[in-house]
Amino acid sequence: MDLSVIIPAYNEATGITSVLERLKPVLGQLTVTWELIVVNDGSTDRTGEILRDIDWIRLIEHPVNLGYGASLKTGIRSSEAPWVAILDADGTYPEQMLPELVRQSADADMVVASRTGASVHIPLIRRPAKRFITRFAGYIAGRKIPDLNSGMRVMRRSVVEKFFHLLPDGFSFTTTITLAMLVDGYRVKYHPIDYHKRSGKSKIRPIYDTMNFLSLITRTGLYFRPLKVFFPVSLVLFLLGLLVLFGSWHVFGRIMDSSATILIMTSVQFLALGLLAELVVRRSGR
Ligand code: UDP
Ligand code: MG
Repeated sequence: MDLSVIIPAYNEATGITSVLERLKPVLGQLTVTWELIVVNDGSTDRTGEILRDIDWIRLIEHPVNLGYGASLKTGIRSSEAPWVAILDADGTYPEQMLPELVRQSADADMVVASRTGASVHIPLIRRPAKRFITRFAGYIAGRKIPDLNSGMRVMRRSVVEKFFHLLPDGFSFTTTITLAMLVDGYRVKYHPIDYHKRSGKSKIRPIYDTMNFLSLITRTGLYFRPLKVFFPVSLVLFLLGLLVLFGSWHVFGRIMDSSATILIMTSVQFLALGLLAELVVRRSGR
């Protein structure tokens, strides 16, 4: 077995059948041997019944809903193939691009189908947050990231396994694996695709999941490139300190040197912590 294709599905009764129907001939075109693993993530609609009737897939079921990342991890754990591909169950990704991604994986550790093609349907309200998060992640990774959390990608399993302990159970799975691979110098390729409007309802909770993304990027940043997180904080505190020092004299006619001292001292501490963290990370061989 060369490739395990993994599809996480939580309450996708409206779309799962057509996704699998479109996928079947595409899998037939592959020149590698494959298996299809569908993880039913504790669905409460008819998803489970539908899937149990399909005999050409390998079905794994979570007794309760565990989350997007948890479903992927279940799929990856149960696979022995050197390569895994992931895909949503909602019909948003162009299944027919899978063979191209697989072809491109020959000289890469991960090939991401990036939603930067001619026709991309990303809901308007999600765009500003998405842009901000992507920029922040790009800064940590030191590389421009065309698509941070595409749910369609082909990954080398041995590399994913290296980062298993970092990978979260929720939607930040894809963000985390992207950052981890980029920061650690693995070969990540991007291939532009179209992205369709989903069938059925999105499982994303906008505020909760955005906070989650941010906290995960910060934590991943701290884990791999701590100075990139500590240094800006230290700089802001330092500049604030200077501002209070000179501004207070200008505005109030007296120097608020105790506030300024606290700010500048804290800034120095952040810088020292950042350097120390960086040292720890380098010593651990990164
Ligand atoms: N999903 C899952 N468990 C969950 C939430 C989502 O397995 O708790 C699946 C869902 O069925 C879909 C994929 O993960 O196939 C991505 O979810 P969704 O499409 O809702 O996220 P979006 O694409 O809107 O970011
Ligand atoms: Mg989706």
